[in-house]
Amino acid sequence: KRAASNDPELPPSKRHAGDVGLVVNHYNSRPDVGVVQRQESPIIGLKNFNNWVKSVLITRFAHPVLSTSPYSQGRAKGKVLDMGCGKGGDITKWSKARIRELLAVDIAGVSVDQARDRWLSQKGTKFEATFATLDCYSEPLSRAFPPAKLVQPFDVVSMQFCMHYAFETVQKARCMLDNVTKYLRPGGVFIGTIPNSDFLLEQLNNIPPDRQDLSFGNDVYTIQFEDREKQPVFGHKYTFFLQDAVENVPEYVVRWESFRRMAADYKLELIYKKDFHEVFMENQEDPEFGPLMVRMKVVDANGESSMDEAQWEAANIYVAFAFRKVE
Ligand code: SAM
Repeated sequence: KRAASNDPELPPSKRHAGDVGLVVNHYNSRPDVGVVQRQESPIIGLKNFNNWVKSVLITRFAHPVLSTSPYSQGRAKGKVLDMGCGKGGDITKWSKARIRELLAVDIAGVSVDQARDRWLSQKGTKFEATFATLDCYSEPLSRAFPPAKLVQPFDVVSMQFCMHYAFETVQKARCMLDNVTKYLRPGGVFIGTIPNSDFLLEQLNNIPPDRQDLSFGNDVYTIQFEDREKQPVFGHKYTFFLQDAVENVPEYVVRWESFRRMAADYKLELIYKKDFHEVFMENQEDPEFGPLMVRMKVVDANGESSMDEAQWEAANIYVAFAFRKVE
């Protein structure tokens, strides 16, 4: 049995209080179910779709940068940082990108161990990988990896479904952006997926004034805000429930424009931002990503979606983005 992340017997570096503790405990306690049991999930269509969106993002924005990496040797390509790597759900995608080296980091130590095990057990993952546990929104990356691992800069930094946890405070958001950009080479890309602030705030503001319960959602997801009036730029908290995935975990609104402006301070220039429905629309007929959708079981051979209406609606909570670090 793993200790809870606020257990006083843990060393201070591994102890997390408040909302961060809730996040760490949640992700550490979610089982790694494996491929077969995964197919039994009631929201497997949505999970497959999210994976397809990440594959599209990686293929469109990371592959070209990886293949021109000064770090490339022979057929293997460049170096990637996966921040908030979780249980290593993107390891196969990095393997397909033929990367040379991966550094993967997450605050949830149990997930990091599972990600390492996944990398070790996957035949055909020929890239070097180093895994570490770190609160990437409060501590510098140099605390997780020895200097030699950080000499060669990254070509790509990826943050999938995890950046919003940094928007609790401006300090955390800045620490996160420091970690993203400090070792990213000029011309390198930063890709990610986060909840869509326009959607979240529109839904919140549409709740009738006489209703006490500030929640919205459908059969598969619920978002619950605490306050109708206070809408701070940082620390605008809600709890998120997603069937068979996330159990009422605290998250924070990432106001897109504030984030984009802050990213510009770190020499990040926006090259792509689309909500998940748009990603679907613009790639469904693509000769590469259309057939990939069938292989990843997002749709069947007849083009029939594996998501019901509720899952399709939940999919569009998110936006995908890509920035380039200016030369
Ligand atoms: N990126 C993975 C994926 O797409 O499968 C995991 C996504 S999971 C929804 C969110 C991850 O963010 C969790 O693994 C969680 O532990 C991580 N996370 C949250 N706060 C973090 C922090 N302060 N530092 C590093 N990772 C964090």
